[in-house]
Amino acid sequence: MLNENLLIDSITKYNPATNKDLINRAFVIAEIAHQNQKRRSGDPYISHPLEVAKILTEYRLDDATIITALLHDTIEDTKLTLKEVRGEFGEEIASLVDGLTKIGKLDLFTKEAEQAENFRKLILAMSNDVRVLIVKLADRLHNMRTINFLPEEKQQIIAKETIEVYAPLSGRLGIHSLKEELEELAFDVINPKARKIILEKLLSISSDSGELIDSIKADLSKEIKKNKINFTVEGREKKPFSIWRKMNRKSISLEQLSDIYGFRIIVNSIDDCYRIIGIVHQKWNAIPGRFKDYISTPKINDYQSIHTTILGPDNNRIELQIRTSSMNDLAERGVAAHRNYKDKSIENERQNYPWLDDLLEMLEQGESSQDFFESTKLELFQDQVFCFTPKGRIIALPIGATPIDFAFEVHTDVGMKCIGCRVNGLNSPLYAELDNGDEIEIITDDKSLPPMAWEKIALTGKAKIAIRRINKEKIKNQYSELGKQILDKLLKSSTDAKKIPNMKDFCKKFGLKSSADLYSKIGRGEITPESIRKAFLKMKIIKANDDPNSAFDPTINAVSIPVRGFDKNIPFKFADNSRVVPGDKIFGVIDGEEGITIYSKQSKNLVKYSENAASFIDLTWDIENNLTERYIARVMIDCKNEVGALAKITRAIGLSNANIENLKLVSRSRDFYKLDIDIGVFHLSHLNLVISSIRKIAVVHRVIRIME
Ligand code: MN
Repeated sequence: MLNENLLIDSITKYNPATNKDLINRAFVIAEIAHQNQKRRSGDPYISHPLEVAKILTEYRLDDATIITALLHDTIEDTKLTLKEVRGEFGEEIASLVDGLTKIGKLDLFTKEAEQAENFRKLILAMSNDVRVLIVKLADRLHNMRTINFLPEEKQQIIAKETIEVYAPLSGRLGIHSLKEELEELAFDVINPKARKIILEKLLSISSDSGELIDSIKADLSKEIKKNKINFTVEGREKKPFSIWRKMNRKSISLEQLSDIYGFRIIVNSIDDCYRIIGIVHQKWNAIPGRFKDYISTPKINDYQSIHTTILGPDNNRIELQIRTSSMNDLAERGVAAHRNYKDKSIENERQNYPWLDDLLEMLEQGESSQDFFESTKLELFQDQVFCFTPKGRIIALPIGATPIDFAFEVHTDVGMKCIGCRVNGLNSPLYAELDNGDEIEIITDDKSLPPMAWEKIALTGKAKIAIRRINKEKIKNQYSELGKQILDKLLKSSTDAKKIPNMKDFCKKFGLKSSADLYSKIGRGEITPESIRKAFLKMKIIKANDDPNSAFDPTINAVSIPVRGFDKNIPFKFADNSRVVPGDKIFGVIDGEEGITIYSKQSKNLVKYSENAASFIDLTWDIENNLTERYIARVMIDCKNEVGALAKITRAIGLSNANIENLKLVSRSRDFYKLDIDIGVFHLSHLNLVISSIRKIAVVHRVIRIME
């Protein structure tokens, strides 16, 4: 059984300079204070504070925190006073112990109101010193480990609270292993049957796929070794509760959960992280949308890593996490890694945890404890993300929601006029998945309407329905809008007339009754610019030098319609792999069903399409307005194969306010390697800026933009 000597041994392992006498004194004082008390298990009470202290040594915490753990139940449950603790251990430890006493024992409360009040105290206590919460979490972990000794009804209440409050709080503090254990223990109380089924399934999967996993591991290792990178690779098995949550969230069966297995690759430097992602994406296909670079943009709890999902051997989906060993340490220990035994200074916690600040602000706004608990408890729920408007209003959304959903949730009007967004102060694509605590500013334009493509991006019913409805109306008008613009441009380029003298007559020449029909047919490409010029001739308004019988060259024709992203009343889409950004020279091809497909003028297809004047349309960008959407351009980089090269390149891209969307190693030799990087930029001059900043890096030989 654990005793004070074993405890001191495990502290000494990471902190040789620990004050053994002081730890011992705390133990003796706690032991005497609790001497006649027993745990429900029959163990002497002191076993509990000892175990809590032991848990904290796994996170390598400082002496003050360990001593606080030993004393955490004394003030409330024994005759020991805070004054005595202060006299014995000084102000720092006394105030930590006081913080824990004030939080009280949430486990003993069953009434919602009391639970809510305690939660409020918890948030206030940790805002002074986050170590209070760390001790509280360890306390809860030990209570969960010994929960079997409690009556069933109480077990359910405590387990529910653990899932709703303590596990998410551990997650917020980034203490991953603690969060996982809390979830598993609570899951076993709340739904032991489901947990058992998942565990059995996991066992059968791992025995079925043992060979597959070994071969993937070997393949991975082989590829990385070729590149002489030091690394370790470990299999990463998911836990039943996280699988259960995923099954519920996405309503899928256990069989459909393809990515139960994942690997974690740990390397020595950031540069190696990017080199490995390049190697991996070269060898296996990356699944689109799954590449996440949390190194350049860490999560709210400071988590850093690169995530990707690849299509491995036999089309198995494999999740990969790539990170350095210090990032891995942070991922496991979270805030405890910042709160090292060496770290004596106590900074202002509010500065370190912006989300904590938000909670405190809500408290200060004088909400009732119960409301606060309800809303914040929900916020801590994993199934939802809670985002903020710039004015601090909380918007609750399902996990996987995008800024588009956010906009519609704020107000239908905001969604309708949305053209872009900033997430946490940075421009962000509208398809980005939102994270808990994100602050989203929606950029609106009165003249804008949501494009149809958003229906697929949006997640909430509210947004989808609104987008569908408005698009039905839009489709009615879109072609006549386009036709009107084409006719107008043709009128200006081929005639001196301000307008068509007799619209009714003009329509008759095409066998049509109304201008609406005419516009619509022009817009759909059913009436060509050539036939319009012939009609001008018949009406005697055509310019003398314009010969409608001459070959019509659409590439130099002045009919040019301004485009701004997708948000005009005309359905635009970009050709696959066109990789154009605002500012590139573009043209469009009209297809009555599909709307207009946009190509780069550097495209091989230019000649092919320009021969068919009816469907060809010259386009320009409307880039006077603030561009907020990112477009993806691809560049190929030749650079020296040397340490730090990739980190320099990714840094240069980041500093230019561009996003890396994907990164792929095309080829490498001993001295050089060739990379394809997909970069999210706002417009052509932004892209040129990024390219020139990459060119300035000494190890870079060549940067070329790749279009098709
Ligand atoms: Mn306790």
